[in-house]
Amino acid sequence: MHELGITRNVVAICAEQAAGRCVSRVRLEIGKLSAVIPDAVRFCFDVCIEDTPLAGARLEIVEIEGRGRCRDCGNELVMDQPWGVCGCGSTAIDCIAGTELNIKELEVVN
Ligand SMILES: [Zn+2]
Repeated sequence: MHELGITRNVVAICAEQAAGRCVSRVRLEIGKLSAVIPDAVRFCFDVCIEDTPLAGARLEIVEIEGRGRCRDCGNELVMDQPWGVCGCGSTAIDCIAGTELNIKELEVVN
């Protein structure tokens, strides 16, 4: 489960950003093509925030739809996995959204 390492990093970055204050809420954007499972992150989050400035913080996860653009015809398509076939028959698809993992918002308590 690689989500544990990822979540640890997220918590460490948030703690650093909070600069000594307590964090009450974190909003994450997780792309559907990022191979990160939101439920696993939720589970790891509760474990990782113990004894950190994030203890007790609420985690919100926004899932970002996967999108790709065909290199041959420029058409954009929705993707459920990091590969696909365009309507023109091409499989040369560039991912343009859905691979991200962003810390979107951090709510701190002063
Ligand atoms: Zn195409």
